[in-house]
Amino acid sequence: MKALTQLFDNTSSTFTYLLVDEKTKEGVMIDPVDTHLNDYLNIINNNNIKLKYVLETHAHADHITSAGNLCKSTGAIAATPIHCNISPADIHLENNQVIEFGYKQVIKALHTPGHTEGSMSFFWSAHLFTGDTLLINGCGRTDFQGGDTESLYRSITQILFGFPEATIICPGHDYHGNMFSTIGYEKNNNARIANRSLKDFTDIMNRLKLPKPSMIDKAIPANLKLGLVSHAA
Ligand code: FE
Repeated sequence: MKALTQLFDNTSSTFTYLLVDEKTKEGVMIDPVDTHLNDYLNIINNNNIKLKYVLETHAHADHITSAGNLCKSTGAIAATPIHCNISPADIHLENNQVIEFGYKQVIKALHTPGHTEGSMSFFWSAHLFTGDTLLINGCGRTDFQGGDTESLYRSITQILFGFPEATIICPGHDYHGNMFSTIGYEKNNNARIANRSLKDFTDIMNRLKLPKPSMIDKAIPANLKLGLVSHAA
């Protein structure tokens, strides 16, 4: 078991991350997907991991989280961004709030609004878990859930691009077979935002005209409850 494991859901092209402190076997999971709950539990049990926290970067519109069930099964603590209003979470993370696990492992929560009003990124040991704020050669859309193009521009250029260029980006999705990137690469090459003015970025985002996510009406209400709802309706 490596310290960082990246898991992928093919249906929604979503990445889930498992961070493990190898000294103590304490772990943290970020953005788990409902259909993979048993896969996660197998990994956790087979490797004797003590899951301490489950984090969400935002309330997703395209898939349902398994955070609630994962916490129920493992005793982990659910920590979600305060402005996402995910009511059953144990901890409502504020900007710059720090959580600790294992032996001196520190995760810092950063409020990076724009994709959604409450979206956060998480910084851990030279890695940034960017959710849908910054994707590889792209970024999250800004047309629902309090999304805002200008906020997203500021979150990416002023907060995320302020990290050292070697910082590894662990995105929330990828639709093109990529896995990781770096701040340096995205700062210089990201097609939507690298070296672009706010006006250029806004024009690009306004031209996207993306279809409504097919899961949105089911996913958002479920995710506001940490996925702890019946899927039958
Ligand atoms: Fe999203």
